Amino acid sequence: MPILVMKFGGTSVADLERIGNAAQKVAREVARGYDVIVIVSAMSGKTNELVDWVEQTSPLFDAREYDAVVSSGETVTAGLMALTLQEMDVPARSWQGWQVPLHTTSAHSAARIESIPRDHIDQKFDEGMKVAVVAGFQGISPEGRITTLGRGGSDTTAVAFAAAFEAERCDIYTDVDGVYTTDPRITDKARKLPRIAFEEMLELASLGAKVLQTRSVELAMRNKVKLRVLSSFEDNDETSGTLVCDEEDIMESNVVAGVAYSRDEAKMTLVSVADRPGIAAAIFGPLSDAGVNVDMIVQNISEEGRTDMTFSCPTNQVSRAEAAMEKAKAEGEINYHGLIADTDVAKVSVVGIGMRSHAGVAARMFQALRDENINIKVITTSEIKISVLIDRKYMELAVQALHDAFDLATAG
Ligand code: ASP
Ligand code: MG
Repeated sequence: MPILVMKFGGTSVADLERIGNAAQKVAREVARGYDVIVIVSAMSGKTNELVDWVEQTSPLFDAREYDAVVSSGETVTAGLMALTLQEMDVPARSWQGWQVPLHTTSAHSAARIESIPRDHIDQKFDEGMKVAVVAGFQGISPEGRITTLGRGGSDTTAVAFAAAFEAERCDIYTDVDGVYTTDPRITDKARKLPRIAFEEMLELASLGAKVLQTRSVELAMRNKVKLRVLSSFEDNDETSGTLVCDEEDIMESNVVAGVAYSRDEAKMTLVSVADRPGIAAAIFGPLSDAGVNVDMIVQNISEEGRTDMTFSCPTNQVSRAEAAMEKAKAEGEINYHGLIADTDVAKVSVVGIGMRSHAGVAARMFQALRDENINIKVITTSEIKISVLIDRKYMELAVQALHDAFDLATAG
């Protein structure tokens, strides 16, 4: 039998009625001839509640116990989903991560998947079981303790199962009906993409489009797992949702696939640091040690042996970055005249594999921003992405202008 992986996110299993709804979709695929592996999230809001309970009980919690507590949300939905299917006369059984066993590293609360043995579940399929319901997000460490994969980790569980079981496809059921050219809340011209390349999805996911956990896209790309994002609240057919796939499987596309944004950026400038070999290492080493996620970096021209160094990081890491810089200064590692933190900025990016073969994307982007009188503070580029830092108050305007400038409302 061909195998299909179906993953249901928190809003899709938020209560018993919705679990029933999701089970109907599973039953339909079984009727079509699939053996199905269902991966479930915790009911929406549950994981937040569990994390909160842990933090209230123990602010500096033991990560092993954090995992013991927060993994329980998925345990409940897996059992309920199996029961719901059984009530519909669909032969189903549930598995917790440790029962599979889904082997992970021992990095509690952020574990990585090492392996998924198939034999146990395959044997059950051979014996006539039609649906294996697996609790997402959880696994077991080499020490035999329960681990979790980081927030949003059920997506990664789903892709890992699809790879291990050579599934025909991995369907991610969620509360949106696919991946859009940009956030539909910012412009009603946003268009649902029928297909998007892995690399584009990877950039969009890490740039703040929250449909899929970034790691799940990485894993799908590496294992060539066909990934589909679709709504659990609609009736779907073969063409519903968005297929995340190899770029070879996309016939035609726009040069730019989408516009992403991130509201919570800060721009930090070290004024007048010595321009000497090793200065970047002396700045970014301590920032990295302090756990600051530096994104964009600009070193300005130097005058009389001194230069300004600008970088961006998430707003909530500004004080950590400041502390790291002050410490490095106090220890004589670096010397600067001032540290300016601008926390009123946002990052807007255009992403598309078409950029590899089309010149002029940057020029078009800058022109569109100029036409709206939006000043650019920092620019970075990669092969398939251009990002700019701008004043946060212009973020929506910039997204709309770029969406228009690259004709994203119409398919390429
Ligand atoms: N329930 C977990 C979370 O909210 C894992 C998931 O749903 O993907 O992060
Ligand atoms: Mg999710």
